[in-house]
Amino acid sequence: MERTGTILRGREFEPVEGRVVIDDDGRIEAVEETSVESDDIILPAFVNAHTHIGDSIAKEAGGGLSLEELVAPPDGLKHRLLRAASQDELAAAMRRSLQFMQRGGTAACLEFREGGVEGVRTLERAAEGLSIDALSFARGSIDAMHAGDGFGASGANDDSFDRERTATRETGKPFGIHAGEVDSSDINPALDLEPDFLVHMVHPEPVHLERLADSEIPVVVCPRSNLVTDVGLSPYAELDERTTLALGTDNVMLNSPSMFREMEFLAKLSDLPAAEILRMATVNGAEIADLEYGLVEPGREARLLVLDGDSDNLAGARDPVRAVVRRAGVDDVREVRYGADATADGDGDR
Ligand SMILES: [Zn+2]
Repeated sequence: MERTGTILRGREFEPVEGRVVIDDDGRIEAVEETSVESDDIILPAFVNAHTHIGDSIAKEAGGGLSLEELVAPPDGLKHRLLRAASQDELAAAMRRSLQFMQRGGTAACLEFREGGVEGVRTLERAAEGLSIDALSFARGSIDAMHAGDGFGASGANDDSFDRERTATRETGKPFGIHAGEVDSSDINPALDLEPDFLVHMVHPEPVHLERLADSEIPVVVCPRSNLVTDVGLSPYAELDERTTLALGTDNVMLNSPSMFREMEFLAKLSDLPAAEILRMATVNGAEIADLEYGLVEPGREARLLVLDGDSDNLAGARDPVRAVVRRAGVDDVREVRYGADATADGDGDR
């Protein structure tokens, strides 16, 4: 099995014309440089490093409300709408979001899962038969973490989370936590927990940047979410100089879970190079969740995104990496490959 085109190869996304050879186990066997006919652009499928897809039932609700009014537990609009919905309604709405992500080239999402063990089960149900890896960073109880793939803490001002942190260490599952979204008050206590990753970090002070540089704890940034809730924007370049960054689309309530849109916004809001933004959207998120894909290089699982480089949107682009990050969209997706012979068309067939 092989795919041909312009391959964004390895961690540098160096564009090479050639073929990707995939073995029977669905791993990349070789990336060969050769002259080919295809106009396709081949890149690693995305890893959306921060989502809340439970609020797929609340898209565009609450226009003009503050972050607190929108999503603060227990009485923010989101939580009232979640309580009013049945698990079946939630699962159905979440499935639509997962299908959209899958069709848009996303191989995995790191979902901060509300609703305890039941919430984890509802996500499993929503993802049944789909190819996307929907990973639950659960909250509510240690049992929920055991049922899911890790723990996703709301924020260090809400609770101490010491027990939960210890429990994740014992099971070897990752612990993530929101920090520095509205202000800097929860950053030090979040860092004290030595989390596997932080989410947002809009308001780090010099001392926090220093601690980040020392600890190299990865940060997931969510620029469009921060724009909608008007909390400010992370100092992307300063964070990027100190640690690994990944990219997430955050609440479906606030934003469509398209990694293309997230990359484009970040590219245009920051001075980060296109290749760095593409790493944030692929391998950096994969490494946070210990996933074996995220790059097109031999030995990796072949979760690939194939774009039509001759679409009306992309035809003639001079720099394929910049074109993918700043210009491409879901309409340019030709194929999303998951492993040996599985093509996800977004409708659940493999
Ligand atoms: Zn979040």
